[in-house]
Amino acid sequence: MTVGGWRAARVVEVADATPSARVLRVTVPGWAGSEAGQHVDIRLTAEDGYQAVRSYSLGSYGASETIELAVDEIPEGEVSPYLVRDVRPGDELEVKGPLGGYFVWRPGGADPVQLIAGGSGVVPLVAIARAAKDAGAAASLRLLYSVRTPTDAIYRDELNGSAADGGVAVTWRYTRAAPDGWEGAVGRIDAEALRAAAWPPDRRPIVYVCGPTGFVEHVADALVELGHAPERIKTERFGGA
Ligand SMILES: Cc1cc2nc3c(=O)[nH]c(=O)nc-3n(C[C@H](O)[C@H](O)[C@H](O)COP(=O)(O)OP(=O)(O)OC[C@H]3O[C@@H](n4cnc5c(N)ncnc54)[C@H](O)[C@@H]3O)c2cc1C
Repeated sequence: MTVGGWRAARVVEVADATPSARVLRVTVPGWAGSEAGQHVDIRLTAEDGYQAVRSYSLGSYGASETIELAVDEIPEGEVSPYLVRDVRPGDELEVKGPLGGYFVWRPGGADPVQLIAGGSGVVPLVAIARAAKDAGAAASLRLLYSVRTPTDAIYRDELNGSAADGGVAVTWRYTRAAPDGWEGAVGRIDAEALRAAAWPPDRRPIVYVCGPTGFVEHVADALVELGHAPERIKTERFGGA
């Protein structure tokens, strides 16, 4: 049943993804399905009636009534520490959605697609990568994923095996510490990193950039400076500085 667009939902599985992030699987009876790249609003209600609402991207897509979220803990945050540390299978919460029609990927486009993620911004891009693989379109997509260190990468195993498994090619960018034997640069995504890993501007890719607000703005500026058309850059800002 929905009241004001909110559906009662139940957490069915939680799995640690990194020291600060967890993947949650949530069953939403009556869920209408979602497109790759969409998000939901999650509403929590405390015993005293206090409510908090936050947005979370879907790592899943398609018709299943069980959706997947991945939440990274913001220290001192109101909602994310609860979702990462405390929520258990069987717990109830409310879900509204799917939301967002702009930051969405659909099969059938002729242009190459560049996905660029910072931190938990990888979640909707994983949904897109999964959808592209399922549609047999993975060869036209690339993912550049910026994380502090290898252990901070949500979906690390899936993304490490992606290209070999017929999925999207993934390039890692580490901002603080790289794995042993890493020969690439360490630091923020810059023009050099984009030149090396991303589809070049003359291929006219559609670019999806997602992550903390500062990351998204920095990457979008660097893309435009390299010659990418601003109207071909889609952004999703998760908040923060
Ligand atoms: C469309 C959309 C999709 C999102 N998808 C995801 C997702 O898939 N996974 C996920 O983990 N989060 C996602 N977020 C962020 C999420 O909605 C919350 O903002 C985040 O979990 C922090 O909530 P909080 O209640 O813990 O912190 P708050 O109590 O709201 O904030 C505490 C402090 O942290 C800062 N802050 C808030 N968000 C961030 C951030 N993302 N990075 C850095 N600082 C921040 C605030 O400015 C504030 O100073 C998404 C946001 C949007 C708008």
